[in-house]
Amino acid sequence: MNIQENIPLAPYTTFKIGGPARFFCEAKSEEKILEALKFAREKNLSVFVLGGGSNVLVSDKGFDGLVIKIKLSAWRLYLHDGDSISILTCDAGCVLSKIVSESVKAGLTGLEWAAGIPGTIGGAVRGNAGARALGGEMADAVESVKVLDVDDLQIKTYDLRMCEYEYRNSVFKQNSNLIILSAKLKLKKGDKAASEKKIQEILTKRKEKQPMEFPSPGSFFKNPLVKDKKLIQQFETDTGQKIRDDKIPAPWLIEEAGLKGQKNGGAMVSEKHANFIVNTGKATAEDVITLAAIIKTKVRNKFGIQLQEEVQMVGF
Ligand SMILES: Cc1cc2nc3c(=O)[nH]c(=O)nc-3n(C[C@H](O)[C@H](O)[C@H](O)COP(=O)(O)OP(=O)(O)OC[C@H]3O[C@@H](n4cnc5c(N)ncnc54)[C@H](O)[C@@H]3O)c2cc1C
Repeated sequence: MNIQENIPLAPYTTFKIGGPARFFCEAKSEEKILEALKFAREKNLSVFVLGGGSNVLVSDKGFDGLVIKIKLSAWRLYLHDGDSISILTCDAGCVLSKIVSESVKAGLTGLEWAAGIPGTIGGAVRGNAGARALGGEMADAVESVKVLDVDDLQIKTYDLRMCEYEYRNSVFKQNSNLIILSAKLKLKKGDKAASEKKIQEILTKRKEKQPMEFPSPGSFFKNPLVKDKKLIQQFETDTGQKIRDDKIPAPWLIEEAGLKGQKNGGAMVSEKHANFIVNTGKATAEDVITLAAIIKTKVRNKFGIQLQEEVQMVGF
């Protein structure tokens, strides 16, 4: 298998930041992943599994181990005629937006909310990617997930219950030894025209609200769980919105802390969406980490809330 050395990781991420991987390979099959793991074991290297790179911040010094980019990308649809549920089986390397459009093309509904979310099925299944305000998260669609357990090199199937899904969390996120190989998604029979319209609306909303003109890894922090009734009331009065699942939107906290437009080197808190730290051109990981620390401190000082990163840190 083709394992390359000293490969810059920035181009493999949507943030366009980060140093090189000491070793790097693209795995197009389960066998190639196993070969790569064997290589890492022989050389006593740490392993990082990369999907679409749309939720990562790679350190400036890069990753001193083996990066395996998951490129398994087959998918198959099992249409159930009489039945309202159909199953879409997709490999971890399938691009999420492609799966969304293929499902709609087949007249199925259930993934429209994911339109415009970059990355792969593997990344989305691991992180329980979602857009609650737009109608869903991966946990709503997953029936089961096939993984390779790096511990014993066995292939295992996790049903939905075993995935332990929560807001942006899962058993896979808690155990980095589980490499996601594929997922079975259950979708319902839908109305193609209605789904297409919904997707267009979602894409328009994303364009309006998110700074697509700059590289970023999407929302930087998770929306924190908040019990403070006064703060919830303040948010609801200020925005005219209701809080969802007891979580206050991180962008509101960051904006209220006066951080919109705040810069550190090449990193900036987006003017359009305060939970997006964007790369204005030449941002380093150091610029981003320092800016994130400023945000966390100011939000904690103002609201007593500790923000937690949604973005995955690599090589720190
Ligand atoms: C403009 C923009 C908008 C976004 N909007 C949203 C949104 O609305 N909702 C949302 O949830 N996210 C959003 N994101 C974040 C991101 O797109 C999602 O988290 C996405 O699911 C990450 O998938 P990925 O393949 O890019 O993962 P990567 O960034 O490659 O990896 C993320 C993590 O998943 C792990 N991983 C990846 N593949 C596998 C695998 N096969 N097996 C095991 N672990 C794996 C990696 O090791 C890493 O820890 C947005 C990002 C951007 C840039």
